[in-house]
Amino acid sequence: MSLFKPMGGHHEESAGDKKELEVSEHVRCLILGSGPAGYTAAIYAARANLKPVMYTGMQMGGQLTTTTEVDNFPGYPDGTDGPAMMEDLKKQAERFGTDVRFGLATKVDFSGKVKRVVVDDNKLIEADSVILATGATAKYLGLESEERFKGFGVSACATCDGFFYKNKVVAVVGGGDTAAEEASYLAGICKKVFLIVRRDELRASKAMQNRVFNTENIEVLWKHQTKEIIGDQVVTAVELYKNKGEAGEEIVTKEIDGFFLGIGHSPNSVIFKDYLETDPVGYVKTVPGTSKTNVPGVFACGDLQDNTYRQAVTAAGSGCMAALDAERYLGELE
Ligand code: NDP
Repeated sequence: MSLFKPMGGHHEESAGDKKELEVSEHVRCLILGSGPAGYTAAIYAARANLKPVMYTGMQMGGQLTTTTEVDNFPGYPDGTDGPAMMEDLKKQAERFGTDVRFGLATKVDFSGKVKRVVVDDNKLIEADSVILATGATAKYLGLESEERFKGFGVSACATCDGFFYKNKVVAVVGGGDTAAEEASYLAGICKKVFLIVRRDELRASKAMQNRVFNTENIEVLWKHQTKEIIGDQVVTAVELYKNKGEAGEEIVTKEIDGFFLGIGHSPNSVIFKDYLETDPVGYVKTVPGTSKTNVPGVFACGDLQDNTYRQAVTAAGSGCMAALDAERYLGELE
């Protein structure tokens, strides 16, 4: 059953239909997501007088709010930190008139010329153009024990939760830049950090690898995979396969207080999948060199459509492209 009133034609109510939502407002440019892509799109769209309305999503400021140091964003010679940078971007977007609202898009209908988006399951907005900047979310291993201890020793955000493990022993799983960065960050707080790596090499950049190898209290557990997280109320240990599937496979146990995920991210595209083309992982496909999706008037930017670079600066650049593409699209409509 649909939460939307039909866009035209006849609609038969079936028994048990929920009450349909009335359109609460019509906007020219609706932006979903508040990371560097969303805020940059908002700055450009507001300056182009598109009167953008932004819904931030549940994590206002996006993934960068879970990062401490940002040393690679141009224009900050001494670096900055993620939350401060996102606050600056928000202020900049608001300065030009972006209406920034806290809320989560829960359903969309991109079938008509006018796009329809439900926010928080209770507010229906119509938009002439939509810019999607909903980003990506940390992946979990899929273990039952991991689910059970979420918030009780299992976390996907070292900078959010590291503080709780002062002078304790933690493990980070993953071999990319995220895991290396989390391990380095936690090493500054914790007594010891195990880095659980499934292969015999790291995927992380050379600079991050050096940081890991030069940090005394990080121990890399090569060719280890997580079997189960152990504990009663809270995490007390992790069981690992060593050399899984090879001669000499064994199960080892490490006593830990915290378990951190650093195995990558999934794009937040689930609510768009009935309308937008995605790759097999779920990244929204855009016409190369543009932010255009397969639906005219719907544009995608940032990590939602970028499986390669995934940097704040590339997200910001693609947000700018989305706003310019939306501006041109709206210009052609009029
Ligand atoms: P990546 O995809 O680069 O790395 C994921 C890591 O997790 C890989 O080492 C992978 O192992 C491992 N992994 C995946 N699934 C499992 C599993 N089920 N069990 C065990 N290990 C698993 O993701 P990241 O989030 O690290 O990085 C994404 C992008 O963001 C990269 O381009 C990175 O450079 C960038 N980034 C940049 C930062 C910076 O510049 N400061 C900080 C963080 C990220 P395997 O290697 O065997 O595939």
